[in-house]
Amino acid sequence: MRKRINIRGVEFDAVTFDEAVGRLTDALVSGTQTALYTPNSEIVQACVEDPSLAEIVNSAELITPDGIGVVKAGRILGTPFPGGRVAGFDLGRALLERIGGMKKPDGSPYRVYFLGGKPGVAEAAEEAILREFPDVTFAGCADGYFKKEGEENEAAIRRVNESGADVLFVCLGAPAQEKWIFSNRAKLPEVTLLLGLGGSLDGYAGIVKRAPKIFIKLGLEWFYRLCKEPWRIRRMMKLPVFYFGTWKYMLTGK
Ligand code: UDP
Repeated sequence: MRKRINIRGVEFDAVTFDEAVGRLTDALVSGTQTALYTPNSEIVQACVEDPSLAEIVNSAELITPDGIGVVKAGRILGTPFPGGRVAGFDLGRALLERIGGMKKPDGSPYRVYFLGGKPGVAEAAEEAILREFPDVTFAGCADGYFKKEGEENEAAIRRVNESGADVLFVCLGAPAQEKWIFSNRAKLPEVTLLLGLGGSLDGYAGIVKRAPKIFIKLGLEWFYRLCKEPWRIRRMMKLPVFYFGTWKYMLTGK
């Protein structure tokens, strides 16, 4: 039975970081197709405003809180997350490290495909990951700038299927990647793990630097990102709306 924590309509899993990695590797071994989404408070607020997006997000088999805002909301609502933040970037990396050392019953490796980022980013991310974890086996990669419907989309899906990928990193930004996985997962029957991991490939490739540890520890990664990428201010305006709404919900139940 999945233990869930409901934050404003989004059904997060009550898991620690290690449990999340364990759930993903178990699904991989058993061949159970599993989608992972890691919403932050911007996305939860978008779900509050758009119930059809909430339905898409809640359809994933694993949903972990990426962002201090969601973790704080858990505390405000009296349902704290057991493991605090479970960030997608770190989860993807830990999973790659883990599956690098795993083999299928026939002795062949699990194969990973990176989809997303600007042209060249997925390749650079692959090289960086191989420097760190040389045992990871890649099936292929492609940039994320293709039409998400019609023939271009079908071609992108065909390439993933022909690659024999078991694990697909879908890094198209939120909520595009959640919508893409929801609409296309049935066409990817041999892909076991579909991971919606936002800008993770930019991070692995070293194009976007992670905030210094002290910012992460103080829950200020969002502030670091805002200073580096000030154009995010419009998206980030959802944050105060989310906070205010969470307190209001706690006090009035609405
Ligand atoms: N991206 C993409 N295809 C698109 C739009 C965006 O592959 O059509 C990529 C973009 O290059 C970036 C990622 O999606 O690597 C979004 O990163 P961001 O940090 O904005 O992620 P989010 O905060 O949305 O999770």
